Amino acid sequence: MSALDLIVIGGGPGGYVAAIRAAQLGMKVLVVDAFRGKRNGGLALGGTCLNVGCIPSKALLDSSHHFHRLLHGFGEHGIQADNARIDPKRMIARKDGIVAQLNAGIAQLFKAHRIETLHGRAKLHGDRRVRIALHDGGQTELSAPHVILAAGSVPVELPFAPFDGELILDNAGILDLEEVPRRLGVIGAGVIGLEMGSVWRRLGAEVVILEALPELLPALDRDMARLAEREFRKQGLDIRLGCRVEAVEKEASGLCIRYQHGDRKETLECDRLLVAVGRKPASAGLLGEDSGVRVDARGFVEVDAHCFTGVDGVWAIGDLVRGPMLAHKASEEGIAVAERIAGLPGHVELDQIPWVIYTDPEIAWVGLTEKQAAERGIPTRSGSFPFAASGRALAIGETAGAVKLIAHEKTDRLLGMQIIGPQASELIHEAVLTMAFHGSSEDLARICHAHPTLAEAIHEAALAVDRRAIHKAR
Ligand code: FAD
Ligand code: NAD
Repeated sequence: MSALDLIVIGGGPGGYVAAIRAAQLGMKVLVVDAFRGKRNGGLALGGTCLNVGCIPSKALLDSSHHFHRLLHGFGEHGIQADNARIDPKRMIARKDGIVAQLNAGIAQLFKAHRIETLHGRAKLHGDRRVRIALHDGGQTELSAPHVILAAGSVPVELPFAPFDGELILDNAGILDLEEVPRRLGVIGAGVIGLEMGSVWRRLGAEVVILEALPELLPALDRDMARLAEREFRKQGLDIRLGCRVEAVEKEASGLCIRYQHGDRKETLECDRLLVAVGRKPASAGLLGEDSGVRVDARGFVEVDAHCFTGVDGVWAIGDLVRGPMLAHKASEEGIAVAERIAGLPGHVELDQIPWVIYTDPEIAWVGLTEKQAAERGIPTRSGSFPFAASGRALAIGETAGAVKLIAHEKTDRLLGMQIIGPQASELIHEAVLTMAFHGSSEDLARICHAHPTLAEAIHEAALAVDRRAIHKAR
């Protein structure tokens, strides 16, 4: 191997994107990744996101959405689809095919950029020496002027409910169920709980979600969170808030979950359990004592605003460091670090990272909520518009939800947006763009939006900030 300019530890959306950008800038790059692909245990570039996260979960969300609409959504269009059935094995095979296609796509991109790879587990030592335990046996040690740590995150395990890959499942296990469980228990009504709970509910499972917090979706303003909660309950997701799970027992018929609900002790019987109570940085075993890299009390690698660890030539990005655990955040940090290494001014604005939950309706937000702004003493005005009043939403039969927009009371600068509704994942970028260009609600209100589109709801919400929405009575 010729002299390396950069070693990247981790081939997820942080690491692989950093590697490609660095190669574009003329660097000789090596990526070390430990993930074992589902098909043959070989190198499967793309990390959590591609192998057991973003992409496979969205593939299943889409399949289950089609099935659910076929059963319940097409009648009013005059479309009859009697005897619709789901073949979960085929659905999972489709999902695996998409993942494999994208794994191969990254490998192809690496080849085109002459990026080297090693399949194994890496540990960083002093002077940027990287020791690698190769999966096919043997060890090697390499060094480079720069190292990017991009080892990502792993699911948090509850001590009384260790993952067994069969009955008690993590994010990887729940993506591989080949039959619809009769009753699926879920611990945690966060992003994974809601997305994967939706998948199996749409396919016919009874889904009960136990959540510790007293409220659902604390990242949203209450009025918006309640809108989403109402829709989930209509779909039959049995979400129980304020529940403290105390024990999970294996029985002949499945699992028995014991939990405290207010002042009552309750139990839940289920035949599969998804534990989705958050993720933690994968820093265990990543750093030798002589690496000099600092880790905080929760295991996050400490970095400054530019992902620099403070150790000469060592950077860290993605789920391994502070900020939202999102693929696009990891990728943007990867690009910014590669550019900084090359002497360019790379930067990521953490306050402008959009979030999306791919349920039905979709939930998306960016920036501050009204509540967060109030907590920071920022005076605001808000405007909202329901999809029920949108001609396009009515035409596609997806009228649940609303757009809410928050602007600074004095300057009118756009501070944040929350969208619950169809295509929220795409629409939110109108807010991201406006915020990136320091735009105002008046800017959005003065931009001509095509008719009939879902984006008109954003236009109307912007007009509503000034109490002049057209299709909504004051
Ligand atoms: P990762 O993707 O975790 O990649 C890290 C890689 O490093 C892995 O391949 C790992 O095996 C490897 N590695 C770890 N330690 C070592 C080591 N010591 N040596 C060598 N290799 C190592 N985010 C979104 O933005 N949108 C979504 O829709 C979305 N959906 C998700 C759904 C699920 C079910 C899950 C679990 C997550 C989802 N996420 C989503 C989050 C997203 O997957 C992560 O934020 C993203 O993958 C983080 O990227 P990363 O590159 O930091 O780490
Ligand atoms: P999460 O942080 O989104 O939600 C975890 C939930 O579990 C929280 O509501 C928390 O209050 C609850 N909880 C924690 N301990 C509990 C306990 N003992 N009993 C009951 N409830 C408990 O975490 P997640 O759903 O595991 O997802 C992890 C991360 O992965 C997300 O935060 C996100 O960063 C990423 N992700 C993103 C997407 C997306 O972008 N669409 C999808 C999936 C995952």
